[in-house]
Amino acid sequence: MSKIKIAELFYSIQGEGRYMGVPSVFLRTFGCNFKCQGFGMPRGELSNEAENIDPSQYTEYKSLPLVSTGCDSYASWDPRFKHLSPLLDTSAIADAIVDTLPYKEWRDEHLVITGGEPLLGWQRAYPDLLRHPKMAGLKEITFETNGTQELSEDFKDYLLEWLMPHPDYNKEITFSVSAKLSCSGEARHEAIRPDIVCSYQDYGYTYLKFVIATEEDAEEALETIDIYRAEGFEGPVYLMPVGGVESVYTLNNRRVAELAMKHGLRYSDRLQVPLFKNEWGT
Ligand code: SF4
Repeated sequence: MSKIKIAELFYSIQGEGRYMGVPSVFLRTFGCNFKCQGFGMPRGELSNEAENIDPSQYTEYKSLPLVSTGCDSYASWDPRFKHLSPLLDTSAIADAIVDTLPYKEWRDEHLVITGGEPLLGWQRAYPDLLRHPKMAGLKEITFETNGTQELSEDFKDYLLEWLMPHPDYNKEITFSVSAKLSCSGEARHEAIRPDIVCSYQDYGYTYLKFVIATEEDAEEALETIDIYRAEGFEGPVYLMPVGGVESVYTLNNRRVAELAMKHGLRYSDRLQVPLFKNEWGT
């Protein structure tokens, strides 16, 4: 049976993007190809906030400190924290997922497969997970990805199988692509992969979500959108404020909403910050 290294598994309200406000189970896989140490930092500087946290002091996610700069889910990919993420077989994961649901069965809840970067090697395990009898009744899945990982041929075939019409309800797959601009600190040629993002469109509703803080970031987002459009990207685009902690989020959210309006783009909040202070497990 396939296994997945799970950083977090919890039930909450989706705070971002298309499904904002929808009750959702979050499956956060371990591992990422990026570090995003530039978030919240002066341009050109990288955060070392997470590097200064001593992993040996923590035995569970819930007690980990929040960071105001860099990647706000640092423990989901930093190997120093891998002891907090068990390798579980897909049957145990399906049991744990359904156990978080309020009625212990799928109703209006949606599944968010996030990370880290969930489209790394774990693609090979998702068919086993989603074929598990307890996952029957699931209608909507979102993959929250950074848009740099190609879908394997096997996984593409499986996604088409999963999308086969069901007599009682519609099923939908969404790719929520958080493409990283220079404020993330990642190299542009590695972070902006329109060829890969366009390939997702054959398997699910695909949108872009740019995390920004300033007018300069918004200008870079606009230039980048043109690059995706030129490659054939057809989906909507969201701007979302930088800010994994409330003090940073409240500095940016209104400005980013106004920038979204100014440029005719969608605004995505990050409701988990004002509602739950972005604590681990929310
Ligand atoms: S891509 Fe996402 S999970 Fe990976 S380092 Fe960047 S913000 Fe964190």
